[in-house]
Amino acid sequence: MAVLVTGGAGYIGSHMCWLLEEAGEDLLVIDDFSTGFQWALPDSAKVYEGDVGDQELLAQIFKENDVDAVIHFAGSIIVPESVENPLKYYLNNTAKSRSLIEACVTAGVDKFIFSSTAAVYGDPEVVPVDENAPLKPLSPYGTSKLMTELMLSDVSNAHNFRYTALRYFNVAGADPKGRTGQSTKNATHLIKVACEAALGKRGHLGIFGTDFDTPDGTGLRDYIHVWDLASAHYLALKRLRTGAGSIVMNAGYSDGYSVRQVIDAVKAVSGVDFEVREEPRRAGDSPKVVAQNTRILAELDWKPEYNNLPKIVEHALNWEKKLSLRNSL
Ligand code: UDP
Repeated sequence: MAVLVTGGAGYIGSHMCWLLEEAGEDLLVIDDFSTGFQWALPDSAKVYEGDVGDQELLAQIFKENDVDAVIHFAGSIIVPESVENPLKYYLNNTAKSRSLIEACVTAGVDKFIFSSTAAVYGDPEVVPVDENAPLKPLSPYGTSKLMTELMLSDVSNAHNFRYTALRYFNVAGADPKGRTGQSTKNATHLIKVACEAALGKRGHLGIFGTDFDTPDGTGLRDYIHVWDLASAHYLALKRLRTGAGSIVMNAGYSDGYSVRQVIDAVKAVSGVDFEVREEPRRAGDSPKVVAQNTRILAELDWKPEYNNLPKIVEHALNWEKKLSLRNSL
């Protein structure tokens, strides 16, 4: 029995692959390598290069292998790009997910884990936000993911098909063993950008807004270590294997850190006092997005190992250094 990871060569997907390999699972990957890297994958992965919306390829994968479950990471993830090009997001995140789900139903693959996002809440009224909060995405990215959640719910009511949707908060850090990390170019996420500034890969770091209604005026986020996130997926898979029903869960630590706190952590861990500039707010940014995580803790017996901002930063920084070496070869 194998687990099929879509987008397995990407940032979160590649961590999932290493974790599954360590757990002794048979591993299949489908990836179009548009943003992922073959070198990020363990050698044991059987890789299909192609499109996750290609039903012929999916049918072939399901025919050639005994697939127990699908973990679906493939998709587009840049919020501002989704505003400029919404149809790309409704194609990559919604329409192609529909094709994948249909291929699963046709092939009788009955367990599915989906990468959803805290962006489905938009600007939450109550923080920490729980899973029953109103779903009001502020971008086509958030809407494209929410539409897939809704499809999953309907399909699980109609067919022999159970799913878990994990709503990710701010994913950061890298494999503690240094095998993979966030490698896509032109990163916009705070911890990655701050690590690049610390290593001199960019001249300065901008703080997007210092006048929010938060303790120090900068945005508050719930940063979750990518390895803990991968382990939550594996526990979610094990839960579905027990026959448990479909569920939606927040994936975060329930701790909020401000932009200034993150910058202080990156400066402390790196020992570099890089330049920081206060800039205007970025369009669409919420002041506070922090998870209520009681459901995932209870349902999965999830015990995060890296709920520690300096550790997250240390791993991100180590990976950033490795990436510099790799890119200079
Ligand atoms: N942020 C910032 N400067 C940057 C990147 C991000 O001040 O160069 C802030 C952003 O406004 C937000 C927080 O850092 O308050 C996290 O942003 P990120 O883009 O990492 O994730 P998001 O929460 O938008 O998904």
